[in-house]
Amino acid sequence: AEAQAHQAQKMEAVGQLTGGIAHDFNNLLGAVIGSLELVERRIGDDPRVIGLLRNAQQAAQRGVKLTGQLLAFSRRQQLQARPTNVNQAILGMGDLLHRSLGGKVGFSTHLAKDLWPAMADANQLELAVLNLAINARDAMPDGGELTIRTMNFPVHRDGVPSGPEPGDYVIIEVSDTGEGMSPEVLSRAFEPFFTTKDVGKGTGLGLAQVFGSVKQLGGDVTVESQLGIGTTVKLFLPRASAAAEAEEAQLTQAADVTR
Ligand code: ADP
Repeated sequence: AEAQAHQAQKMEAVGQLTGGIAHDFNNLLGAVIGSLELVERRIGDDPRVIGLLRNAQQAAQRGVKLTGQLLAFSRRQQLQARPTNVNQAILGMGDLLHRSLGGKVGFSTHLAKDLWPAMADANQLELAVLNLAINARDAMPDGGELTIRTMNFPVHRDGVPSGPEPGDYVIIEVSDTGEGMSPEVLSRAFEPFFTTKDVGKGTGLGLAQVFGSVKQLGGDVTVESQLGIGTTVKLFLPRASAAAEAEEAQLTQAADVTR
């Protein structure tokens, strides 16, 4: 438990640092992208110059994506937390997940009936599940199985040793039958920029995004992994309160009326 507390403190400090830097970089990139747009309007039709401009624009867009993931990790992004049907979100990602996994990896879902609505930001949640699926795929180069489960996790007082504060949660569990992680890799997996993948393949920001956005929602993330056996990541999302649900229902109704 001591090591875990230490790890949490370190993540907090790294988050503050990277959040500040990412925020400033994001503003700088905004200025770069704006200027390139102005350049684009005056540049004429020399194809070489147009090519260079496109390169610069693409590099800046990649930078925006990276700083976005860093901001997610440091919890400085704006989340739209609202009662979310997690099963529906996962079903809606079916095609995307199949495409991302490629042909070798089998994919199945076990979605709990009567799953509670969870407080989540649908976009961030989908990005998190996608990041987990991509990690699973990368851990199964010769094929394997990816399984996504959802379940209700009612109030616990002294249940999970690592894991969330007592309360009602909706769990999304993403398991693979891949190569797993050594204890050393596992202890660093959430650190931004920590990657064991080849240059150009991994940014080391996937799990940082997952961790940051779930924490910002008041949830938690746990990882179990065994070398040669596989990895299971659990996202604990806070259950939406009855009040939040009622408010959401009213908003949806109002939107239906104005439509
Ligand atoms: P990236 O995928 O870009 O390397 P992540 O933050 O998503 O960045 O993951 C960090 C590291 O954690 C990976 O490089 C890999 O070593 C390890 N890892 C993450 N998910 C898994 C998994 N499902 N199976 C095995 N190793 C994993």
